[in-house]
Amino acid sequence: MKIFILAHTHSDKDLCAKLSNQISADGAIWIGEKCDFDFFGVEDLIHVDSNNSIKSGRRLSDHFDEQVVIVGLDDGFTGEILASFSVSAYEPVVWGCHGFDYCKDDSDIVLQKYGFGGKVLYTSKISSGCVQFNSKAIDSSAREAKNPSVVSLDGQDSVSFEILESVESSDENKDVTSADVVVSGGRGIQGPEGFESLKKLAGKLDAAVGASRAVVDMGWIDYSHQIGQTGKSVSPKLYVAFGISGAVQHRAGIQNSSVIVAINTDRNAPIFDICDYGIVADWKEVLEKWVSV
Ligand SMILES: Cc1cc2nc3c(=O)[nH]c(=O)nc-3n(C[C@H](O)[C@H](O)[C@H](O)COP(=O)(O)OP(=O)(O)OC[C@H]3O[C@@H](n4cnc5c(N)ncnc54)[C@H](O)[C@@H]3O)c2cc1C
Repeated sequence: MKIFILAHTHSDKDLCAKLSNQISADGAIWIGEKCDFDFFGVEDLIHVDSNNSIKSGRRLSDHFDEQVVIVGLDDGFTGEILASFSVSAYEPVVWGCHGFDYCKDDSDIVLQKYGFGGKVLYTSKISSGCVQFNSKAIDSSAREAKNPSVVSLDGQDSVSFEILESVESSDENKDVTSADVVVSGGRGIQGPEGFESLKKLAGKLDAAVGASRAVVDMGWIDYSHQIGQTGKSVSPKLYVAFGISGAVQHRAGIQNSSVIVAINTDRNAPIFDICDYGIVADWKEVLEKWVSV
């Protein structure tokens, strides 16, 4: 069984190179027109000259006639490619992995991932299929570039899926998943204008702005800021929650933060059970003092 690292035009190449090193990938797969592979330090490269995730997954499935494990980062486009491969090849996909190792007894791969909102750490093993790796769990340095041999997968696709248009997000705010500091607001900040104040503090701390689902549902801020079970998972060095009660679905997205600070008027709010520093106070009072420091 061989391990292939998967990357595409929008991937973070640095992270891909590190992931490739961490899992000792045998080969790499590049999805996209311009093919600059040698970042990953592997000997075998497969190039799929396509920006179509579904067709790319199908072509990969048609190509491999041996057992492979394809490992990618936790971005949406990678997820689509892996899902398409998985359906075509009847192989499993394991999402959001934090740990990756080799089984001592056989050639299987051992994976670790959190479940039930972080209450359980699963250990599982697979001999072939797809793995999506949590970016924050990548910790090794990049390995040296090589001059790999390239196989191009061209040809007719029978899949009826076309991307008609692709528009870059106009949101200039920092991404919550990669920021070292995240400043979040919930229903307790009392209205969409609360986020204007939060953005001031975020600017001061070079932080990203996050939100609970309640306020996203009310249209106070865009979904791209939502943190939690049905939003994004974050793992910043500092997470600050203003007026967020700390429902289990929100906690699922913040459990990997190094330090959590919560500001809430209700001393019995569940967020105080998991935070490192809790302040029982009105959010605005704390925010204004912080901004003025
Ligand atoms: C299937 C499912 C998936 C979900 N996914 C998510 C998810 O991904 N992310 C998510 O966040 N939620 C999610 N939810 C919703 C979740 O259950 C909660 O409803 C939501 O997180 C509550 O948001 P909140 O804390 O902003 O609001 P509330 O629970 O209403 O809490 C507001 C808090 O603000 C405090 N407050 C009020 N006034 C002030 C003030 N002046 N100063 C300071 N504090 C004040 C209150 O004491 C309260 O604790 C999901 C729910 C379901 C069923």
